[in-house]
Amino acid sequence: MASNRTFTMLKPDAVEAGHIGAILNKINEAGFRIVAMEMTQLSTQDAQAFYEVHKERPFYGELVEYMTSGPIVAAILEKDNAVEDFRKLIGATNPAEAAEGTIRKLYATSISANAVHGSDSDENAAIEGAFYFGKRAQF
Ligand code: GDP
Repeated sequence: MASNRTFTMLKPDAVEAGHIGAILNKINEAGFRIVAMEMTQLSTQDAQAFYEVHKERPFYGELVEYMTSGPIVAAILEKDNAVEDFRKLIGATNPAEAAEGTIRKLYATSISANAVHGSDSDENAAIEGAFYFGKRAQF
């Protein structure tokens, strides 16, 4: 059965461009409830740990550098079928391939600076949410 929570980050490009409000509005309009939220900036160590699964990929260094380049907004979102529905709302990894109306189509600038993160499974949603919020509070 699908979990009802997912994890998102509004990435440095979206924050820098002033899109926090517009993106949160789309998230709310799509029926997600914000359960936890924090604006923060990742250290190199944080970003390396968060993207550990991509360590062997050629873009890993670029990804870590980009994700530490400015503030981000991390949040846990709640809705029925949250992981799958949020992936639909954000669109394809590469904004050039993202469907019309999706957050990445509207706000992303490149395959790297693609505005938002969305967990790809219930298991990763739990791990990623705990990465930011697990140690400090029970949600
Ligand atoms: P996602 O689940 O849609 O975020 O995509 P992935 O898990 O495959 O990749 C994680 C993140 O790495 C993406 O959101 C992008 O920011 C970045 N990324 C993925 N593919 C590429 C690539 O080919 N080049 C670069 N520079 N970054 C990439």
